[in-house]
Order: sequence, then C-alpha cells, then structure tokens
Amino acid sequence: MPSLCCGAALAPYADTPKVEVFRCRSCGTYAARFKQKRPEAPDSWRDPSITDNFLKALKYRRELQSELILTSLSDVFSRSPALDYACGQGDFLAQALARGIDCDGCELGIAEKDHLFKLTSAWTFPKNARRYETLLLLDVLEHHPDPGAFLRDLKSRGIKNLIIKVPLNTGPIALVSRALACIGRTSLLERLLLVDEPSPHLFFFSTEGLKNLVAREGFKFKGVLPLAEVGCELPQRLRREPTGVVRLFLSFAGWKLAALSTIWPDTAVLLFEASAA
Ligand SMILES: [Zn+2]
Repeated sequence: MPSLCCGAALAPYADTPKVEVFRCRSCGTYAARFKQKRPEAPDSWRDPSITDNFLKALKYRRELQSELILTSLSDVFSRSPALDYACGQGDFLAQALARGIDCDGCELGIAEKDHLFKLTSAWTFPKNARRYETLLLLDVLEHHPDPGAFLRDLKSRGIKNLIIKVPLNTGPIALVSRALACIGRTSLLERLLLVDEPSPHLFFFSTEGLKNLVAREGFKFKGVLPLAEVGCELPQRLRREPTGVVRLFLSFAGWKLAALSTIWPDTAVLLFEASAA
C-alpha cells in the first residue's frame, strides 16, 4: 500500500494491541491503523488525571503558541478573513479577535455565537455566506483519514493561504518514543497518537511528509514556524504530577526543550499558498 504523503511504499513500524503503525519509506511520516472501536464520548478529559494544574499548563502553552502564530503571520491575516477550522474551545479565535483580526471559527457540536459556527458533521464546512481565503488547521489535519482529499476540497473552495500546525515525528519527544518502541516499550508512541481518545492521530507527520502531501494538492510551501510544545510547565503536563527533585529536573528538561525548539521542534506551523491553477 502506498503512503498518502509521498506515494512511496509503507513499511511496518510498530504493532501494539491497540494500534498498527506504518512508516513512509520516503519521508518517514507514520500512518496509524487502530484496532479497537473508538470511545464515543471524550471520556479521557474526565479522567481524574486531568487536573486544574494540567489544564492551566495546557492553556498557558496554547496561548504562547497562538501569540507567536498571530505575530509571525500578521501579514497573512491582513489579506483576507480567516477561518480557524475545528477550533475546539475557540481559544485561538478569541486571541485573534482581541487583536482585531477578521477571523471566524467552526467546530462540531458547539453553540453558535459571534464568529463561531457549528459544523453539522465532521469535515464539512459552516453554512454561512462568508468567503475565506485563509484557513487555519491547528492540530487538525493529523486526525483526517484522507488528508489529501480534504486539501483538494479546500483548493476547490478558493482557499489561498493555508496555515497548518501539526505535531512532528522528528522532534525530541518523538525521538524518545522511537527509542522506547525499539525496545518494545510503545506506551509513549501510543500516547503521542492519542490511542485512547475518541479522535486519535491517524498520521504523525515529518515536515517533509506534510510538505509533500500539501504540494501534491496544489499548495506551495512558504515557510515554517517552529513552536515549543512544552516548557518549564512540563511537570504539570504529566498525568501524575511529580514533586521534589523529579519536579525540578522535569522543569529544567522542559525549559531546555523549549530553548531547543527553534532548531529541533516537536511541533511547527507551516504556511502554504495556493499555486496558480
Ligand atoms: Zn511520505
């Protein structure tokens, strides 16, 4: 079976009771095939390990990332109205609106309000009359079963600027998961693929794989913005928050990871522009 990113052959990479992972022989992107039926409700967010501190740490990191995206891509946002596709709780949208940026968001199963539109089913578009030339896919594309088909649809809808944020399988955290998978410890890899969540990651892209996939659908790569996925708040992001020396060590490790992220990021935003037809 060829990979969806490059068309190259896929090689078996990891096989656990929950998921089978394949790796593109050309770009290294992973494709995941899940063996279990997905839970229907997002129960993992009601798990006791999701503490207030965890949510605060996650919000803090997302806000930092959003500010960087809004600042670095201000020129793109000034060109046309933007749509934050599958915007979740609308945190990025709120930050964009606070900056006076013309932006809307859409999500499944939300209550509609100003600038926020409801999607009636997955991977459709909001039923409003606005035309968007800029589309944000922030931690979204890796959830699509056929991301190429979705990108093709975007092109036909007149999207000119694509801002795509994905976790990268070339970053330090993914490297640790790879080393552990080599000795048969696949739990970190499973966590990175969100195996127990209702909407897991079906792809875990390399930068090259994402560029290849998007280029195949008629968008030119314009630039990349590396982002830190964690920083000194790392201890609060763990399911069992450590104390004492371990906590100090992890804070330091998180701080180093954040410092390293400009040259070796765990996540990045890539900017693409539609090529002339
Ligand atoms: Zn590939």
